Amino acid sequence: MSIAPIERQKSDSIPIAETSRDGLQESAPAPQKRKRKRRSTSHLKFVPETLDERERIKLEAERYAETLDKTKPFTRVELEKWGRDVLDTLDLPEKFLGFTSVLIGNFFWKRQFLSIPFERRMLLLPHCLKHAEGCPAEYDEFGLDCEKCGACSIADYKVRAEQLGYKVLVAEGSPIVLKIIVGGYIDGILGVACLNVLEKAIDKVLIAGVPSYAVPLHSGDCKNTTLDESWVWDVLEEYEPLPEPETTSYLPLMRSANRIFDDDFDRLLPRVRSKNDDEKPSPLALTESIAYDWLANGGKRFRPFITLAAYDAVTGANGLNGGLNSEQLAFPDSVLRVAMSIEAFHKASLVHDDIEDDDMYRYGRQTLHRQYDIGTAINVGDHLIGLGYRLLNSARTDLGADVACDVLDRMAAAHVKLCDGQGAEMAWQSQTTADLSPLDALQIYALKTAPAFEAALYAGLRMAGDTSNYDEMIPAFCRHLGVGFQILNDLKDWQGDENNKLISGQDAVSMRPTILLALAFQAADDRQKQALSEIMQQENDDQSRIERLRQIFLDTEVFDKADALVEKSRIRSEALADEVEPEELRQLLYFLIDTVLAPETNQRDDEEPSLPLVPLTINPQ
Ligand code: SF4
Repeated sequence: MSIAPIERQKSDSIPIAETSRDGLQESAPAPQKRKRKRRSTSHLKFVPETLDERERIKLEAERYAETLDKTKPFTRVELEKWGRDVLDTLDLPEKFLGFTSVLIGNFFWKRQFLSIPFERRMLLLPHCLKHAEGCPAEYDEFGLDCEKCGACSIADYKVRAEQLGYKVLVAEGSPIVLKIIVGGYIDGILGVACLNVLEKAIDKVLIAGVPSYAVPLHSGDCKNTTLDESWVWDVLEEYEPLPEPETTSYLPLMRSANRIFDDDFDRLLPRVRSKNDDEKPSPLALTESIAYDWLANGGKRFRPFITLAAYDAVTGANGLNGGLNSEQLAFPDSVLRVAMSIEAFHKASLVHDDIEDDDMYRYGRQTLHRQYDIGTAINVGDHLIGLGYRLLNSARTDLGADVACDVLDRMAAAHVKLCDGQGAEMAWQSQTTADLSPLDALQIYALKTAPAFEAALYAGLRMAGDTSNYDEMIPAFCRHLGVGFQILNDLKDWQGDENNKLISGQDAVSMRPTILLALAFQAADDRQKQALSEIMQQENDDQSRIERLRQIFLDTEVFDKADALVEKSRIRSEALADEVEPEELRQLLYFLIDTVLAPETNQRDDEEPSLPLVPLTINPQ
């Protein structure tokens, strides 16, 4: 077996892309509305104390998983229900729900995980398995660089897994793993982690259709932890090919969207003035060079994914149903160029938005106007808009003028709405009055976020054919999705965000017209209103402003109200999805809902460590 270690060197060779599921078949019973509420789940994450009890649950989880329909990846809600079924059968308490759910997930995916060749698998180990006092290993951008001293089991797993061909990481955090998966380097994960980490991985990895097998740590103490070692060895060395994939997956489509900005980039959008290895471009080539770099790097490529997945859903669903090996999933260049144009328009808007809001970071690096200057950034944003038009036009011959013009019209409408929303936000920020109603805030959200989703979804469907059946659904669905997404972002602002280097409460400090602020004004008494006005007019001592604002938000229950609004967005978008045909498109809409409106359980009180997004180089051998 060849050894395929991770090369511990810095590189940009894996482009950033991620995401993360379910759907409903024609023959399946009518979908049920899913009631989700963000809540602490720590009371559900106990691990049984005895091996006997853990084995008992494992046995029942395996038996239960045999009865499941495996044609589609499961949702978090389905998994939770299955976990409760197993606990009921065994007459065990709810506190083992997380543990039980992980084991059911394992047996749902086990056959497909075992069918992945070793060299296409990743072994993900937690650094807390190390010998806490004596470990000589150091941390680097990949996590813990184990020196294989033999003092803990990490070395045993690592040596054997690398002999077999696995990529091995001693790290935590699904973003880094998802980047590697979407980059096309691995197809499945064998992971050891505590239940806190595994809970997050369910939304990011399993629901996207990535075959995985997880061995839970016995505790989440983050120090000298233990596990049932035999459970790792049960699967580490096993390989059993399957004649064909059992479960649909969005991974091939995510990879296709990723390749647009990687392997296919220069072919789809040839450079005119610059070269892609220009270290110091000439003044004539500078703008193009920065714009291409900005377009090719960074971001989740979520909008191009929507376009490709929508096109795929109504043209035979080869991407969705083809299995993880559908590497050569072929889209016409015209479709790829339109998907790329959506990203160009989106990135242009972000460059300008960052200037207007004077944001410091984007995609983990400095914003363009901070890296260069405002004039350069405005010009690069304009250049990206031009690239978007050029890409759209270059697809015209293939698509036909009618289709190209319809897509262009939707893109133009998105652009105008986005500017209206951004303008409304800035106008409100420049006022010193507090007359922002929740409806105002939601309208701003609908204008700022929904149009890009709408343009992406419409473009994919229109390029495939007539969209008259979807004319009402598309804008309504995207509006609910966009509004819910923006509210979740507001809630996230109160946690900070390691990946984008956000500081907790940053939006509040800059007094963006968030729904949280609007709800607080609506519910505040006179004293609280007075305090809110004072906070808005202060210009220094940001931390005390944030803490005062947080207290008012808590007192006026705006976090709970915002949660309820996200839930409403979810229910409404699900109701629209339920009416859609064909089944593959409905499945995509549900996947978007689950991805964009993923309930981040334990959101505000969780302090699980995770690695920041970093560039990786993986030996592809
Ligand atoms: S085997 Fe590796 S991780 Fe474990 S103590 Fe030694 S160097 Fe540290």
